[in-house]
Amino acid sequence: MKLFQFLNKNKETKFQCLCCGQIYDEIPLTFGSEFPSYYFTIPENEISERVEYEKSLCIIDDHFFHRVRLAIPVLDYSENLNFDIWVTISEENFIKRNENWNDEERIHLEPYFGYLQNEIFGYQNTLNLHTVSIENKPGIIPNVQVIDDSHQLYSDQKNGISLEKAKSIVQNILKIHHN
Ligand SMILES: [Zn+2]
Repeated sequence: MKLFQFLNKNKETKFQCLCCGQIYDEIPLTFGSEFPSYYFTIPENEISERVEYEKSLCIIDDHFFHRVRLAIPVLDYSENLNFDIWVTISEENFIKRNENWNDEERIHLEPYFGYLQNEIFGYQNTLNLHTVSIENKPGIIPNVQVIDDSHQLYSDQKNGISLEKAKSIVQNILKIHHN
C-alpha cells in the first residue's frame, strides 16, 4: 500500500507542457526577466551609452534598478512560484546595497521601497506596483513583496495560490517560451 502511494506521488511530480508535450521531472516554477522593461525601450545603438548593468543591478540614465525575487506560495506544493524580476530603487538605497554587497549583516537593513518594473505572467497591470524588497544573505537576491493591497498579486503573495492555478500560469508561460 505504501509503495503504491509512493509511486503515485512520484508520478504526480512529472509535468507535461501542453503546447509541445515536453515532459519535466518537476513542474518548472522559477521564471524571470533579464532586464527591467524600461531597458527594452532603449534603442540598441544607445544601450552602451545609457545602460550600466552588472550582476543584479542596473542603471539606465538616472534610474536605478535591482533584481529581486517575487515568490508566490503554492499551497498544496513544496515550492513557491518564483519570478526573478526588477524593481526600482532609490539612488541612496542603491548605494547602500552596493556598500553592503558582501556583508552578512545586510539582512538587518531596512526594506527598500520600489516600483515593480516587469509585467508578471498571469497577472494584469503589474508595472509600477508598489513594493518593498528585503535583503537576503550575500549571493541571494532580495525578496520582494507587493504592498498595493488592491492588487491580485498582493493577496496571492499573502494567501498563496493553488497548485492548479500555478500550473495554469506555468502552462501559459511555457507556451510563450516554446513558440
Ligand atoms: Zn511547450
